[in-house]
Amino acid sequence: MTKTDLAYTGSYTDWTRKAILAEVEKQMKPSRFQHVLRVEACSIELAEKYGASVEACSLAALLHDFSKEHDAKIMKEIVLSQGMDSEMTGYGSEIMHGPVGAYYAETVFGITDEAILDAIRQHTIGGETMSLIGKVLFIADYIESGRTFKGVDEARRLAGISLDEAAYFKIEKTIIHLVKKELPIYPGTIYVYNSWIQRKVGKS
Ligand code: GDP
Ligand code: FE
Ligand code: FE
Repeated sequence: MTKTDLAYTGSYTDWTRKAILAEVEKQMKPSRFQHVLRVEACSIELAEKYGASVEACSLAALLHDFSKEHDAKIMKEIVLSQGMDSEMTGYGSEIMHGPVGAYYAETVFGITDEAILDAIRQHTIGGETMSLIGKVLFIADYIESGRTFKGVDEARRLAGISLDEAAYFKIEKTIIHLVKKELPIYPGTIYVYNSWIQRKVGKS
C-alpha cells in the first residue's frame, strides 16, 4: 500500500477515496492528475510535520484543482450565481478555479468543513488569514516534487522550518513573477500580500 492509499479514510464525506479519485481524474489531463497526487503526498508530509489533520489535508489536496480545466464560461456563471467576487471573472480560470473548486467540493462531494473549503478557495492567491489546512495546501501546491521553478528549493527549505515563512515566500514571489510577466494582478492577491507584509514588518 502506498502512502497515498492510506491518506483519506472517508470521514468528511460519503464519497470513498476511490470514487473521489475517479471523479477528479475525469476533470483533467493526466499530467495535472499526477500533480494533484503529488500535492496530496506533499500535503500529508506537511500535515504530519505540523500537526494538521491528515485526512482534511488529503481531501483538500485531492479536490484543489477540480475546476482548473473547466470551461471559463461555466466558471463565470457559477461565480456570478453564487455571489462570489465578480471581479474574478476578468482574470480567467487561474483565479476562478479555487473558489469554483470549493463550490464543487461542497455541492458535489458534500464537504461541509469550512477549513477544507477555504483551503481550496484560497489555494491560488492565499488568504489574509489561513487555517493550518489552508497553509498546508497553499505550500504543498507550490513545492510538490514535480515543481522545478527557480526558487523552489528555497521554498522547500522554508517549508521545513515554518509554514508562515514558506507562505510569505510564495506570496511575495508570485507578485514578483506576475509583475515580471506583465500579467494583471487580481486585487485579492494584493490584499493578501498587504496583510502578510504588514504582519511580517510588525514582527521585525
Ligand atoms: P496550479 O493550479 O496547480 O497551476 O497552481 P495555482 O492555483 O497556484 O496557480 C494558478 C496560476 O495563477 C499560477 O500560475 C499563478 O502565478 C497565477 N496567479 C496567482 N495570482 C494571480 C493574479 O493575481 N493574477 C494572475 N493573472 N495570475 C495569478
Ligand atoms: Fe490551482
Ligand atoms: Fe495545483
